[in-house]
Amino acid sequence: MQGNMSKTGPGKLALGPTRPMETSVDYTAKLDDAIQKLHDEGRYRTFIDIERRNGNFPHAVWTRPDGSEQDITVWCGNDYLGMGQHPVVLEAMHEAIKSTGAGSGGTRNISGTTVYHKKLEAELADLHGKEASLLFTSAYIANDATLSTLPKLFPGLIIYSDALNHASMIEGVRRNGGAKRIFRHNDVAHLRELLEADDPAAPKLIAFESIYSMDGDFGPIEEICDLADEFGALTYIDEVHAVGMYGPRGGGVTERDRLAHRIDIINGTLAKAYGVMGGYIAASEKMCDAIRSYAPGFIFTTSLPPAVAAGAAASVAYLKTAPELRERHQTQASILKLRLKGMGLPIIDHGSHIVPVIVGNPVHTKKLSDMLLESFGIYVQPINFPTVPRGTERLRFTPSPVHGPDEMNRLVQAMDELWSHCALNRAELAG
Ligand code: PLP
Repeated sequence: MQGNMSKTGPGKLALGPTRPMETSVDYTAKLDDAIQKLHDEGRYRTFIDIERRNGNFPHAVWTRPDGSEQDITVWCGNDYLGMGQHPVVLEAMHEAIKSTGAGSGGTRNISGTTVYHKKLEAELADLHGKEASLLFTSAYIANDATLSTLPKLFPGLIIYSDALNHASMIEGVRRNGGAKRIFRHNDVAHLRELLEADDPAAPKLIAFESIYSMDGDFGPIEEICDLADEFGALTYIDEVHAVGMYGPRGGGVTERDRLAHRIDIINGTLAKAYGVMGGYIAASEKMCDAIRSYAPGFIFTTSLPPAVAAGAAASVAYLKTAPELRERHQTQASILKLRLKGMGLPIIDHGSHIVPVIVGNPVHTKKLSDMLLESFGIYVQPINFPTVPRGTERLRFTPSPVHGPDEMNRLVQAMDELWSHCALNRAELAG
């Protein structure tokens, strides 16, 4: 942009200020207002600078604003199984960098489809028992690109979307120009009502998640598949918080519950349990071909670096044969929930690996998080609106197989002490 040029007449540009003073907007003041609003509500987000040290996860080093360093334990990461530092993954990435270099050098359509991408896609299709899969640079992009493209493929498509779907699904549905219906979270009766109210001949798709990451509750997959059959709808599931962790080979809750064949499009990430980066959909050959051909979010962006694809493929392949890691993960989550519950803390327990402790106030949540970090070297990011509804602000713990008994003891003791220190109610909140 040539910021110092302004139009002086039709089609003419001249040097000079672009915005005459008398009509100018105070952009800085508007930014200040927007940021102040977050401060006022106690939900201005600050992140800490950490460096994960290879081989030492869940430990990391926090560099304070004054430059001093402190050893911390990460309790809020989504590297659920510690695969981000697994030798099998790192070796595959090193090998790929040595063989092929850094970036892919292009979009998938223009020189950016490599053997590494194809191998990973084959691995993922196999994981979910689908004919094909399609890689994206993240699961966010996979959701957004796919859901915003589907109405181009199925004119008149109505998307039925769970009220608590992830922001990436909401964005995809919102800007796809098609019709949408929002059903109350996990409420299949409401979903049925909405389906019944629409034209039986209209193409339909139901979009939902297998595990909702903030409460850790499961979607009613089978009931939704039954409704989809009854009303002739396609099914779209986000398995981002389940792939690698559920099912005999890590194919997610749909694999665990033997329902993958009833889902038309499965979305997953390579950034959480698989410890690397990237996202994908797995579906029929024809569905992937159509999305590949129509989705701007697939077409007009550089493909993942081959080393990332290589690391992810190694991780997916490894976890297909590592049920013991999944079991240890679940055991860790159960122990932590049990111990926090035993102290009367208000945790949400839906039987998944996610351990949310409800604080219910953004200021208290931030304070607890700050104190855990400063006094105990425990890092858990506060979760506020809009990620969760106001009044349900929380600390969300993600125990993993690499969090040992010492780390667990320290966390439980710290929570006990701080809960008392902050005079937060136990029994009442726990009820
Ligand atoms: N879907 C859900 C439910 C998520 O929680 C997230 C990220 O946290 C995503 C999709 C996006 O995944 P990614 O980090 O691969 O973009």
